[in-house]
Amino acid sequence: MSHAPAYDPSNIFAKILRGELPAHKVYEDDRALAFLDIMPRCPGHTLVIPKTPARNILDIDPEDLAYVHKIAKTIAIAGKAAFQADGVTIQQFNEEAGGQVVFHLHVHIIPRHLGVPMKPPASAMEKPEILAEHAALLRAALGQ
Ligand code: AMP
Repeated sequence: MSHAPAYDPSNIFAKILRGELPAHKVYEDDRALAFLDIMPRCPGHTLVIPKTPARNILDIDPEDLAYVHKIAKTIAIAGKAAFQADGVTIQQFNEEAGGQVVFHLHVHIIPRHLGVPMKPPASAMEKPEILAEHAALLRAALGQ
């Protein structure tokens, strides 16, 4: 069994948490942050991350993982309502072999419509004004 690498605080999501990079924030509390994916696979594609440093499911504290999924459920319900979706896809990748690109644990929440396929990963950067509009829709659905 190969040994998991250590958490690297220079990853993009750690920079967002430190305020060094911008994000279209949807929800924030003392333990988790939710923001829009800049290359959404469907409109409303949101990422939920823990505030504690964790690379992925292999090293995260189970309580922190449970909390991230609690927020993911809230965002899933808000995303389904905000985008009049028929369903929601949840994805979470672990290590390069598992499809992970950014090494700070994140849960993808992707509102889905019947018969509409997801775009391939990293296919197109969304316009900032569209992301701002979608973040506002999600915040409204969350009652914020
Ligand atoms: P993965 O690690 O495979 O789950 O993929 C990382 C995800 O992060 C991809 O869906 C990217 O589009 C997304 N992403 C990369 N950089 C940013 C960023 N600065 N803000 C928001 N999402 C990002």
